[in-house]
Amino acid sequence: MYGKIKEHLATELAGIKEAGLFKAERIIASPQGPEIKLNTGQTVLNFCANNYLGLSNHPRLVQAAKNTLDSHGFGMSSVRFICGTQDIHTELEQKIAEFFGTEDTILYAAAFDANGGVFEPILTAEDAIISDSLNHASIIDGVRLCKAQRFRFDNANMVDLEVKLKEASKTARFKLIVTDGVFSMDGNVAPLDKINELAKKYDAMIMVDECHSAGVVGKTGRGVTELFDVRGEVDIITGTLGKAFGGGIGGFTTGHKEIIEMLRQKSRPYLFSNSLIPAAVGAGIEMFDMMTQTNELQDKLHANSKYFMEKMKNAGFDIKPSRSAICAVMLYDAKLSQDMAAKLLEEGIYVIGFYYPVVAKGLARIRVQLSAAHETEHLDKAIAAFTKVGKELGVLK
Ligand SMILES: *Cc1c(COP(=O)(O)O)cnc(C)c1O
Repeated sequence: MYGKIKEHLATELAGIKEAGLFKAERIIASPQGPEIKLNTGQTVLNFCANNYLGLSNHPRLVQAAKNTLDSHGFGMSSVRFICGTQDIHTELEQKIAEFFGTEDTILYAAAFDANGGVFEPILTAEDAIISDSLNHASIIDGVRLCKAQRFRFDNANMVDLEVKLKEASKTARFKLIVTDGVFSMDGNVAPLDKINELAKKYDAMIMVDECHSAGVVGKTGRGVTELFDVRGEVDIITGTLGKAFGGGIGGFTTGHKEIIEMLRQKSRPYLFSNSLIPAAVGAGIEMFDMMTQTNELQDKLHANSKYFMEKMKNAGFDIKPSRSAICAVMLYDAKLSQDMAAKLLEEGIYVIGFYYPVVAKGLARIRVQLSAAHETEHLDKAIAAFTKVGKELGVLK
C-alpha cells in the first residue's frame, strides 16, 4: 500500500525545492568533452567534469573498449569469486599496483564500493579510525559499517589530528588515519608528509582516497603520495576509474598484499556485487599503458591549471589556494553563486555554483575543474566570460 507516504514524500520534495536545494539534471546530447552539446542545442565549454586528463572520450580508450567487447563479451553475470574473473581483471589489478608502486589491487564496481567495503574486513571494535572531517561520503558510510572506534579531525589540521591520535592510543589496538588526497570543494591536498610523521610517531596506518588526485597530482599523476614523496609509506590507497582515469566506471583498493587478500575474503561490495564489465576493464588496461608511455596529458593539465588560476587571480578573483585541478572561485553568497553560474552558461561556460550544505555556510563558490583536453583558447574564453559576468554582478570592481 503506497498510501500516506506518497503525500509525505511530495511534501518533503516541495520543501527541498523551496529551500532551493533541488538537484535537476542538465541533459547533454554529445559525448563528454571540453566542448559539449546540451539538449537545448547550445554548445558550451565544460568546466565541471572530473575529466581531468581528457580521457572520457579518448579514441584509444573507445577502441580498447570496443575490442574488449569483441574478445571478452558484454557482461559476466557473476561476482568475482564464482565465475566473474577474466584474465583482464587480474591484468588490470596488476597494472594498478604497478602504477602506484603497491603489492596488490582489488577491483570494485565503483570507488564508492571500495570505500564502503574497506574498513569492516580489517578493523574491529578494538581498533580506531581517525578520519578527516571533509572526507568523501563513501568513506563516512564505510566507517559507519565498521565497528571500530571513530575519531574525526578538522580538515587537514595536524594539531587536531595529533590530539585525536593521542586519544585513540589510549584504547585502540590498531589505528588507521583516513584522508581524501584532494578535497573536492577547495582543491587543497592532504598534508601527507606531516600525516606520515604523525602516523610513525603514534604507530598508525594511513589510508588515502586518491579519487580526485590520481592522474592529476604529482609530476607523473601518481597522486598525493607522489607529491609528498611518501610512496610505500601509505598502507591503503583507494581510487576510481570514473574520473581522470577514463571517466567510465570502476573503483579499486591497492596496498599491502595481506590487506588486499583479506578484502577478497570479506569485503561485502566485492563478494556480493557483480564483476566489472569487460569493456571497462579493457579500457582501463589501455589507459594505464598510456600513462606509462607518456606524461603529456599530466604536463598539459598542470600547465592549464597554473595558467587558469594565475589569470583568474590577476583578473581580481578570490581563488582558494589549490594544488590540484580544482579551482574554487570564492563568492561567499549563495544566491550570487547561482546567478553567476547561470550567467556564465549564457556566455557558453558550464560551471556549477556550490553553497550550503555542500560547502560551509557563507562560503559559496563556483568550482572550476581544469582538464588536459582544454586548449588555451578555451581557458581564455572562460576567463573573459568570468571577468565580464564578474563585473556585471559586482564581484569585480
Ligand atoms: C568520486 C569519489 C568517490 C566515488 O567514486 P566512484 O568511482 O564514482 O564511486 C569516492 N571518493 C572520492 C574522494 C571521490 O571524489
